[in-house]
Amino acid sequence: MHERYRVPDFVERRLTHQELWSVLQPIIRRGGYDVAELGASAEGRPLRLIRVGAGPVPVLLWSQMHGDETTATRALADLLNYLASEPQAERVRRWRERLQLLVLPMLNPDGAERNIRRNAFGIDVNRDARLLATPEAKVLKAVQERYRPRYGFNLHDQNPRTRVGASERLASISLLAPPPDGSGRPVEQWQRAQRLISYFGPRIEPLVAGHITRYDDSFNPRAFGDLLSSWGVSTVLIESGGWGADPVKRWLRAVNFAALVEALDAIALDAGADADVRWYRALPENGRAVNDLVIRNGRIALAGQAPYAADLVLDLAGADYQLVDAGDLDGTAARDTLDATGLLIQPCDPADAPLPALLLGAAARLRLVRATSDSIPVWELAAGRLIRRSR
Ligand SMILES: [Zn+2]
Repeated sequence: MHERYRVPDFVERRLTHQELWSVLQPIIRRGGYDVAELGASAEGRPLRLIRVGAGPVPVLLWSQMHGDETTATRALADLLNYLASEPQAERVRRWRERLQLLVLPMLNPDGAERNIRRNAFGIDVNRDARLLATPEAKVLKAVQERYRPRYGFNLHDQNPRTRVGASERLASISLLAPPPDGSGRPVEQWQRAQRLISYFGPRIEPLVAGHITRYDDSFNPRAFGDLLSSWGVSTVLIESGGWGADPVKRWLRAVNFAALVEALDAIALDAGADADVRWYRALPENGRAVNDLVIRNGRIALAGQAPYAADLVLDLAGADYQLVDAGDLDGTAARDTLDATGLLIQPCDPADAPLPALLLGAAARLRLVRATSDSIPVWELAAGRLIRRSR
């Protein structure tokens, strides 16, 4: 179903305000949706609320309050496209009759512009629910106060290296009903959110079998999910993690779409009321984030320095491997391990000249050569790929 309604424009993981709204505007016109400009980001990009349906149950959905987390924004565009494309479908009519969808896609367009988490003030908007220092947080709070949503969907991407519990499996989808306080008391809006997750979760579980977890459920009094829950909103957090060799997250975008369709239908039909919350509570928790590559037992050869022993840890960041740690890294787990026993590791510039210093955070280009002969490297790591050059 998602294939049919997936808007074709978003093929990159990065997504800017301009790109989003140029795609949304024709969908909004076609669907006859109501759009209200509620304010602007710190840099003046309009923050718009899309309203669909005239039902008695307000449901708030917001995405990309972290500017580099685009998966759910793309899924929301697909959902709005579905609604606009199938006005006569029984399900769509039911939603429009019983729900009032309040969609705030890309709450942090300034972060999106730079493909970073925080807004232009340098603040994490999801830690600004109490202070309301950012215009983006003010808009989200204003929507909550004006519409009093019964349900809220807080849509994010998490570290794609996060694992399921202590396993090596990626936590592809993490769900959470954020607690309204730190007491653990069963408050109705929190229980309702847990029932909703226990209804739609099993329906999407087969799409990411074995890769679904519960997000950290400790109460955070600065975070929007938690405070919305304390303000009476049954809030559901959906985090998209990693999924195999799919850095653009096409598949998890489809899973987000499916999760939202199932959840909204459950709300419209009041179908989740009897769901057994043991499903939610039995979910494995998020485990550690595991790095992409560790290179062990080699010696680093910098220009002008005697070689020294160091393990290296690297993560894929965009199109490149990025150096994240160096030294004695015994105990660091990674998806791939390269044993560099007997090899010299030469960090190089783009012209393959050896570098004089090892800098963390930079795109890594490495030549791994035998100590006895450096003419043909044994391995080369460049442009996000590790290639064997000789035996
Ligand atoms: Zn996030």
